[in-house]
Amino acid sequence: ERRSDIRNVAIIAHVDHGKTTLVDALLKQSHVFRDNEQVGELVLDSNPLEREKGITIVAKNAAIEHRGVRINIIDTPGHADFGGEVERVLNMADGCLLVVDAAEGPMPQTRFVLRKALELGLYPIVVINKIDRPNARPAEVLELTSDLILELATQEHQLDFPVIYASARDGYAGTSPDVRGGDMAPLFAAILERVPGPECDPGAPFRMLVTTLLYDSYRGRIAVGRIRDGAVRPRMAIQRFAHDGGRGSFRVGQVFGFRGLDRVELEEALAGDIVAVTGVPDVLIGETLADPSVTEPLPSIALEPPAVKMTFRVNDSPFAGREGQFVTSRQLRERLLREVETNIALRVEDGETPDQFIVSGRGELHLAILVETMRREGYEFAVTRPEVILRDGPNGREEPFERLLIEAPESATGFLIEALSGRKAQMVGMHSGEDGRVRFEFDIPTRGLIGFRDVFITGTGGEGIMNTEYLGYRPWAGEIGRHRSGALVASETGTALAYGIAAAQERGILFISPGDEVYTGMVVGLHARDNDLDVNVCRAKHLTNIRSSTADIAVKLVPPQPPSLEQALTLITADEMVEVTPRSIRIRKAELN
Ligand code: GDP
Repeated sequence: ERRSDIRNVAIIAHVDHGKTTLVDALLKQSHVFRDNEQVGELVLDSNPLEREKGITIVAKNAAIEHRGVRINIIDTPGHADFGGEVERVLNMADGCLLVVDAAEGPMPQTRFVLRKALELGLYPIVVINKIDRPNARPAEVLELTSDLILELATQEHQLDFPVIYASARDGYAGTSPDVRGGDMAPLFAAILERVPGPECDPGAPFRMLVTTLLYDSYRGRIAVGRIRDGAVRPRMAIQRFAHDGGRGSFRVGQVFGFRGLDRVELEEALAGDIVAVTGVPDVLIGETLADPSVTEPLPSIALEPPAVKMTFRVNDSPFAGREGQFVTSRQLRERLLREVETNIALRVEDGETPDQFIVSGRGELHLAILVETMRREGYEFAVTRPEVILRDGPNGREEPFERLLIEAPESATGFLIEALSGRKAQMVGMHSGEDGRVRFEFDIPTRGLIGFRDVFITGTGGEGIMNTEYLGYRPWAGEIGRHRSGALVASETGTALAYGIAAAQERGILFISPGDEVYTGMVVGLHARDNDLDVNVCRAKHLTNIRSSTADIAVKLVPPQPPSLEQALTLITADEMVEVTPRSIRIRKAELN
């Protein structure tokens, strides 16, 4: 049974593509506010740190009323997933709005969240926003967005998504890219028609997964989530399934729903509703609240283990206290423990001395955000350099790896390849856009990412975008800092070929010889498909600073024989010499010298 009076929609957008303005326009045009009521501050607005880092850190909710249907808009964190938050938040939704700037197009930061949304089966609606911009290129942006959905979709229906063109700033939307006026009604219509109402069994006993926590100085901790089954009412008896396996009995205090950006007190809420519940003081994110008759909690989202740690220490230097407020170890400890309550991927342990705490998190960025947030709150303390957390696997030492997604101007290609090969990154994909920008995917040990963000920002002149996704533990990738090199030799007839790539991540130079001439270029990507190997080569002008680090290149010809897909992929990933003979080689961007 599906409810028709409610829609739960996640909103996915790159920072600055207009998420806030869009939700604001929807709120203004819905019946949440009386005509003379001020909408006030732009809603869902990112905090300054989010804006600086180009990522969204915290998820928030808004509810909009349209034609008797309540639309819950669920904000999603834009970038790094610090502990299953993205998945938990998306779990509340049945559909998603993917907001894309009509001039900029889809950005790699949104890819991760979109992929998760599609994996969870959410129905997508593409909103091409800022259609009023003079440099808007809606047709191209739609194509790029469709490509992305095509690549990530997990279900048939997701490929048949509605497209709405909008100017959130001017408050209109339409189904044609030529729309220049009107209101948001077409977007409301798309949400009502294309996002299914929540599945619910109102007769079942109450169950709700706690997705986020709110704090209130009077009420303490407030659990927010979507009701899966049954109903919840104030003063109702419930139980909490704690993470540690324990179960406790509680009585619900108040039940709140959302109206606009406010909370409103409810006498009852049903399966499908997103609510905030008081009365369970120690509840944690990911736990289940349920009717006392329930025996099984809802599936919680598995937490990825922390990959990076650093030590926080009371700053006892004589200069401490000049800028921030001097903190004692007790204050520091209390602040960190408070953080752990909501920042669930974070761990805090006591350090070697009473003034030290070891803080572990998902990655350098995760910890850097905490450090920065605390500093902005006025805490003064010292931190050590972040270190990865190693572990012993069945075959020896293992370390955490990430998938690194990069988008950067093509001119930064040489710099990136060099910087990353030195950090043990292996390229797994590369795509040159028409817009003069390249998109790369690398697998890289988390260790190799430490300090990379700054190098990246400088090296791409601030024009690059990077994003990481956690892959898991893999065998230790070796010491960072040494360069090895390899080469691939190819001829256009496909007979000549390949030379061993000593450690594919450092595969350096491509020699291509149509006829007798030898061309050199930097291999920046290999894609194997059936018996074809697509080789992406960057322009010779980027080669200058690479030659030096790829000095000893041996060249060998091997007899023609098409490689299997596995062989071709081995070329990309193996840590030893391999020989490959693609039947044909296609060269993109081949401006070689
Ligand atoms: P968010 O980071 O995704 O929440 O983006 P915002 O809603 O804060 O918008 C970022 C910037 O884009 C702001 O300066 C907005 O005024 C502007 N903006 C948002 N929507 C539109 C639009 O439809 N047209 C134009 N021209 N600008 C817009």
